[in-house]
Amino acid sequence: MDLVEIEQKLKAAVKDSEFLKKEGEVASYIPELENVDKDNFGMALTTVKGQTLAFGDEKIKFSIQSISKVINLIMALEDFGPEKVFSKVGTEATAYKFNSLIPIDEKVVNPFINAGAITTASLIKGGDVEERFNRVLAKVRELSGSEDVIFLEEVYNSEMKTTDRNRSIAYYLKSKEIIEGDSEEILDLYVRNCSIGLNVRQLSEIGGVLANGGRSLKDGRQLIDKNVVKTTLSLMSTCGMYEESGRYSIEVGFPSKSGVGGAIIGIVPGKCGVCTYSPRLDKFGNSVRGKKVLAEISETLNLNMFIGG
Ligand code: GLU
Repeated sequence: MDLVEIEQKLKAAVKDSEFLKKEGEVASYIPELENVDKDNFGMALTTVKGQTLAFGDEKIKFSIQSISKVINLIMALEDFGPEKVFSKVGTEATAYKFNSLIPIDEKVVNPFINAGAITTASLIKGGDVEERFNRVLAKVRELSGSEDVIFLEEVYNSEMKTTDRNRSIAYYLKSKEIIEGDSEEILDLYVRNCSIGLNVRQLSEIGGVLANGGRSLKDGRQLIDKNVVKTTLSLMSTCGMYEESGRYSIEVGFPSKSGVGGAIIGIVPGKCGVCTYSPRLDKFGNSVRGKKVLAEISETLNLNMFIGG
């Protein structure tokens, strides 16, 4: 399929989802997340050949929120290897909410709930928080092929003031000896990572690298180890969309991760990365319109990896 045809299908899907424009609510438990235009919609798709199509509110930067859990996992796996990481976080889906303390036993059920991502954040190497966060930012910049990835300080401050639940999770993890080190510092890094700001084009470029087996879309350099990509995409496919991951997989059929900022990143291995941004969420925390558009393009562009084509 050529780019013109892809563009037509993407535009048709966006148009067909217009009836959902006012459906859902923006996240308000982090006050700053309410400070957005609720009706924004942006989308981008990046092929493994490095071509990107972007339209709608493609320039608007949003906080990646839970999509940072993908980056935390990648970096923890690269820094400490799967044995250590999976001695602390499991690999199974959960029906509990992303900020629940229940799925924490000797380990956390998976890396894509908050407790799991606080744990993987604790496994990102570096000296102080600043140094570790700079490594994360550098990684996101490298993967997105863009230096213009920013830290949204207002979002960070807003979450730090209201993050009692995550703070209790961090202390609980420490008490269970799942995380080592200073709970406040690990929480700080986790929240900073959630506050990374980028746009749909940049996020879809990251998706493109993951779809390309971790290789750069510019020069083919291996930016993420192949096994780390394989593990990350498998977990995104089973646990990436909160308690709706199973249903979403049936409807969309490729690994994805959403964040309460309203973005969804999707990866179609060997084909493309895709990203939607639309801040109104359903009760699970997934973007209502983003989900609809991704389900439609999965069908019209034959992206469902369980069908092929
Ligand atoms: N920063 C958010 C939190 O910890 C991320 C949640 C999400 O996007 O699922 O609550």
